[in-house]
Amino acid sequence: MNNSGAKPPVPFLDLKAPYLELRAEMDDAYRRVMTSGWYLLGAELEAFEAEFAAYCGASHCVGVGNGLEALALILRGLAIGPGDEVIVPGNTYIASWLAVSAAGARPVPVEPDARTFNLDPAQVEAAITPRTRAIMAVHLYGQPADMNPIIAVARRKGLRVIEDAAQAHGAEYRGRRTGALADAAGFSFYPGKNLGALGDGGAVVTNDIGLADRVRLLRNYGSRKKYEHEVAGVNSRLDELQAAFLRVKLRYLDAWNARRRTVAAAYAQALRDLPGVLLPLAPEWAEPAWHLFVVRCRQRDRLQAALTAEGIGTLIHYPVPPHRGPVYAALGARLPITERLAAEVLSLPIGPHLMGEQVERVAVEIRRSCVA
Ligand SMILES: *Cc1c(COP(=O)(O)O)cnc(C)c1O
Repeated sequence: MNNSGAKPPVPFLDLKAPYLELRAEMDDAYRRVMTSGWYLLGAELEAFEAEFAAYCGASHCVGVGNGLEALALILRGLAIGPGDEVIVPGNTYIASWLAVSAAGARPVPVEPDARTFNLDPAQVEAAITPRTRAIMAVHLYGQPADMNPIIAVARRKGLRVIEDAAQAHGAEYRGRRTGALADAAGFSFYPGKNLGALGDGGAVVTNDIGLADRVRLLRNYGSRKKYEHEVAGVNSRLDELQAAFLRVKLRYLDAWNARRRTVAAAYAQALRDLPGVLLPLAPEWAEPAWHLFVVRCRQRDRLQAALTAEGIGTLIHYPVPPHRGPVYAALGARLPITERLAAEVLSLPIGPHLMGEQVERVAVEIRRSCVA
């Protein structure tokens, strides 16, 4: 099988389309910052922080350099570090674990629920030890984690709960947006995320004014006043240009998430009842942000090869779970559900600029491959 040439390829994600759609506003933002003569920790960042906090329904937002540092600074801001353990999902991007390591603490993985792919609340309690300080819930693929039972365990055990919301801007759990569901949330504005910058960026969102203040201090060399350093901070700031771009794109986030929802609904309709392909499950309390549309398929590698041959881009999130890579192999974690998912998941093209006919084409090729 090869691409007969008649059909245009379907890229996994088109990163240029968002800029082209918002070109006039993005170019305005660019000119505004360039001519301001002020490029770090200025009016654009302050405005974005206020706007994004309000969007999430939280009181504070602190812009930082990227999503990994957002999570690490939350942990440091909560005084979680060496000697402490943080519960993380086994099935996640390695950044969730690396943030714990960056803070000096130890990630302790818990298996996912095999149907939602997110942290299984029923298995959290067994992973708690006297050293456990926090639970990091990841809203993986834009699907909100089941926060109520996680928070209930945390309350009983006196633990903090942190949201890794890097894939879930605008996703809702029981009618409330991610970012304000727990003690604090880390967001990423990596270009491919639902709210993506034109470079790296991230944010900490919280209702805890003390934590917001400590993260603000840590992100800027531990300094409130130039050349006065209270703590050993880092340099992790969301720059003015990215903040200005993000302010433009934030105004379109809900509309673009709605377009993703339309794509997801079209896939679900076109691929229903297809033997061998398990569709993502959104519980009734979830309004996912559809960062990714992840199907599960025993014949995953064959399906991916067939789609690649037809010019259809797919990715695997994630081919090697954190505990199986060299960084964390020494922990010796045994996570069979996570490993099965890694062998069977496939992410289909999705995004606010994917056309109906492209979705249709992907579905047709999947059906063809699965009955072949
Ligand atoms: C992207 C991502 C991060 C890290 O964000 P960066 O901005 O790339 O550092 C963390 N966690 C998850 C689940 C992510 O998808």
